[in-house]
Amino acid sequence: MPSEKVSILWFRQDLRLEDNPALCAAVQSGHIYPVYILDDENAGQWAMGAASRVWLNSSLEKLDHSLEGKLSLYKGNAEKILPELAARLGADGVYWNRCYEPWRIKRDTKIKQTLTDANVEVKSFNGSLLWEPWEVLKKDSTPYKVFTPYYRACRASTLPAKPVPTPEKITALKDHNALGLKDLGLLPGEKAWVTKICANWVMGEKAAHTALGDFIENGLSRYKKGRDYPSERSVSRLSPHLHFGEISPNYAWDLILKQESSEDRDHFCSELAWREFSYYLLYHFPKLPDENFQSKFDDFEWFGSEKDLKAWQQGMTGVPIVDAGMRELWQTGYMHNRVRMIVASFLTKNLGVNWREGARWFWDTLLDADLASNSASWQWVAGSGADAAPYFRIFNPVTQSKRFDGEADYICTYVPELAKLPTRYIFAPWETPRDVLDTVGIELGRDYPDVITSLKSSREKALQTYKEL
Ligand SMILES: Cc1cc2nc3c(=O)[nH]c(=O)nc-3n(C[C@H](O)[C@H](O)[C@H](O)COP(=O)(O)OP(=O)(O)OC[C@H]3O[C@@H](n4cnc5c(N)ncnc54)[C@H](O)[C@@H]3O)c2cc1C
Repeated sequence: MPSEKVSILWFRQDLRLEDNPALCAAVQSGHIYPVYILDDENAGQWAMGAASRVWLNSSLEKLDHSLEGKLSLYKGNAEKILPELAARLGADGVYWNRCYEPWRIKRDTKIKQTLTDANVEVKSFNGSLLWEPWEVLKKDSTPYKVFTPYYRACRASTLPAKPVPTPEKITALKDHNALGLKDLGLLPGEKAWVTKICANWVMGEKAAHTALGDFIENGLSRYKKGRDYPSERSVSRLSPHLHFGEISPNYAWDLILKQESSEDRDHFCSELAWREFSYYLLYHFPKLPDENFQSKFDDFEWFGSEKDLKAWQQGMTGVPIVDAGMRELWQTGYMHNRVRMIVASFLTKNLGVNWREGARWFWDTLLDADLASNSASWQWVAGSGADAAPYFRIFNPVTQSKRFDGEADYICTYVPELAKLPTRYIFAPWETPRDVLDTVGIELGRDYPDVITSLKSSREKALQTYKEL
């Protein structure tokens, strides 16, 4: 056992070495045991979904590689595992970067107490946010509920911390009683699905930096406009990397601000700030994932059926842009932001399905499934959230697809059965004249679903239900 101080570095949503404040502090104090604990027990209903587990599996593998095989893995209740580990390994301190999910805050508070009582020093850091949620409050000390004044207040407060480089020397130790990656059982039985979604991504810290670099080179200059067009690669696709902390928002913010000043640059920063705002809301309103932010929606009569929900999940609603989005999600573990808004509006408003059902499906299938961003965004689209789109503003999926996928390139990528139709009919196939369908050999209901609801009457029904609220 080395004579220097020994500490445990507890990796959580910060699976990286660069700009990792807890890691920097831990290595300065001496030798470290880098550990990761898969704690489904405390997560409860918010245990990671299937797609997130696939990402986590690769990300841990990459992190272990960067740590030269020294990452120790565990599975179970961190409240038990961590104090036992600290005692067994003779750790003087435990270091971590803070997380903001309500279940994690509750758990970490207890762990901190247990360790402190056992004379183990605990130090926590901000490794995931540009601004801590408690740092930005209104004049009356209450939290903001509207994005624009929130962001303005953030900008007027302290500058986000500058990223810190990877420590030059990390003296890491491995606990030989730890589990192997396979023992975590992260990969689901459906191998074909895993192979499919993994084919679209490279996980890990290095890949996160490559993605940011590619975006700066190829996407940033058209970001503000291009981010609305799902067939364009004008977005960064950084979300799963940011969620797992393979890259910090501070690193991205800092590098983006070093680029030439432009509307695109500022717009990208404001999108990073929407992520911040989601965390801010989750911190100040911890019931956000479970309860309507606006309680008047508690009495809303959701009129959707199980059958409609299934059709939506499977990308078989007969509305091409919706089906394309849902199939993109299933095939790649990702969905473009504009399309996320369209499918969420269609589910909650045209199909009348409770937003929680949609959020659940996203939780299981998105690689970037994030309790803060997912809950805040679903409530935003459903109309029940903070600073939400008003309920009566219902996206028309046909108009949206004509506007943002004018050549139907995105639709045809994921709904290839419609590719033979002349473009102008692809957006609403149910309006295609019989002879045109016959010419291309498509029968609705056989080759592609007939639309499951009338957009017009379902819209009216949604508005009527809202009126009665
Ligand atoms: C119904 C619905 C559910 C969503 N669920 C999630 C989720 O579980 N996890 C998640 O990370 N994002 C979620 N979003 C937000 C957004 O769609 C994704 O962050 C974005 O599409 C990710 O792609 P990107 O990295 O290419 O984004 P870019 O446009 O390149 O944006 C850069 C980064 O800014 C952040 N960001 C951008 N838009 C938003 C936004 N509206 N809200 C919060 N952060 C944002 C993300 O971290 C993103 O990686 C959801 C949006 C909707 C409408």
